[in-house]
Order: sequence, then C-alpha cells, then structure tokens
Amino acid sequence: NNNGWTQKSDKGILIVLSGPSGVGKGTVCSALRQCTSDLVYSVSATTRSPRAGEQEGVNYFFKSKEQFLSMIERDELLEWAEYVGNYYGTPREFVRSTLDAGKDIILEIEVQGALKVKQKFPEGVFIFLLPPSLDELEQRIVTRGTDSMDAIRSRMNAAREEIALLEHYDYAIVNDRVELACQRIQAILEAEHCKKERY
Ligand code: 5GP
Repeated sequence: NNNGWTQKSDKGILIVLSGPSGVGKGTVCSALRQCTSDLVYSVSATTRSPRAGEQEGVNYFFKSKEQFLSMIERDELLEWAEYVGNYYGTPREFVRSTLDAGKDIILEIEVQGALKVKQKFPEGVFIFLLPPSLDELEQRIVTRGTDSMDAIRSRMNAAREEIALLEHYDYAIVNDRVELACQRIQAILEAEHCKKERY
C-alpha cells in the first residue's frame, strides 16, 4: 500500500559554514540570504565591537563581556568560542525552534565552535570555505582595512590552524567567486534534502 513517497523527516537541516577570517564567509552568507528565501541565518552573540555598517541583531548581537558570560551561565548558547581576543556564541533557542519549524538554518562560525556543534548535531552539514591561496587570504584581510598589523598576524595564524581542521567537514568550497560559492552551497542543500534517510 504505497500512497506515494513523502519525507518522514520534517526537521530543517542545520548547516555550519566555517572558513578562515577574510575568506568571504560574510559576503557568501549575505549572497545566500538574498537568493534563498527559505534559509534562515543564525545571528551570533559577540563581545567584538561593531564594524562600520554592522547592525545589532542583523550581523551580531553585540554584548559586553559580562552580558556574554551570563549567557554562558544561563546555558543560552549552543556553543561558544574565544577568537582573537573576543567571545562569539550561537544562541541555542533560535536554532532549535527554526529546525523544529522545518526550516534550514545556517551557522557561520569558526572551527572550534563548529566541532562542538558537530557533537550535538552529528547529522548537520559541515561546509568549509577555502581561500584560493593563503597569500590571497592575507591580501583580502589587508584590503578590508579593519585590522591592525597585530590583528592581521593573529588572524593569519588562526587561519592556518583552522584550515588544518578541514578533515572534520563534509564539504570544501574554494571561494574564488561569490556567486559560484553561493550556487555550490545551494546545490549541497538540494542534495542533502534528497538523502534517502529522510524518506
Ligand atoms: P568576525 O570578527 O570576523 O566577524 O568573526 C571572527 C570569527 O568568529 C569568524 O570565523 C566567524 O565565523 C566566527 N564566529 C562568528 N559567530 C560565531 C559564533 O557564534 N560562534 C563561533 N564559535 N564562532 C563565530
């Protein structure tokens, strides 16, 4: 008695997008947000100060260190990590309610946090964005012009350490062109929705 194939999994898919600072994750994410209406973006909390043009609740929830620590204490974060002197974390409740509502959600987070998410969501889809080369990456960070020489050095060191953890990810995408990277992420999502385990 087969009345047709339907997906039994009505939960959304959790996607983690990582990649070294300056690789263009933010740009790829905003491109994704524009061309895919059914993908929800998880807004992180951070103690870093806003860059020009960044908006509260859109790019980040900007917190003082005290506020951030009390979020950790109240167990409001799915994961958190310290990165180049600041705290970053993913609000837990928003991720849970989005997935329960059957919507896909994307977390743009660094590697340590991604590994913690993988322990809690082994069924998540983990995507790593690579720069065309390390030289190109340094050039992009310098051109962005938001970091001091010291911060650039820290971010490049962090980048090398992050790329070393690529093996924990399911997919790697070289971000040579934003539209291409964006298309590839959409293709991965399409494929993940067709996984036989979801039927
Ligand atoms: P940026 O200061 O350049 O916005 O972010 C620095 C790094 O922190 C990036 O690699 C970014 O993906 C990561 N990040 C942003 N939000 C979160 C978060 O909620 N958790 C973790 N673990 N990393 C985050």
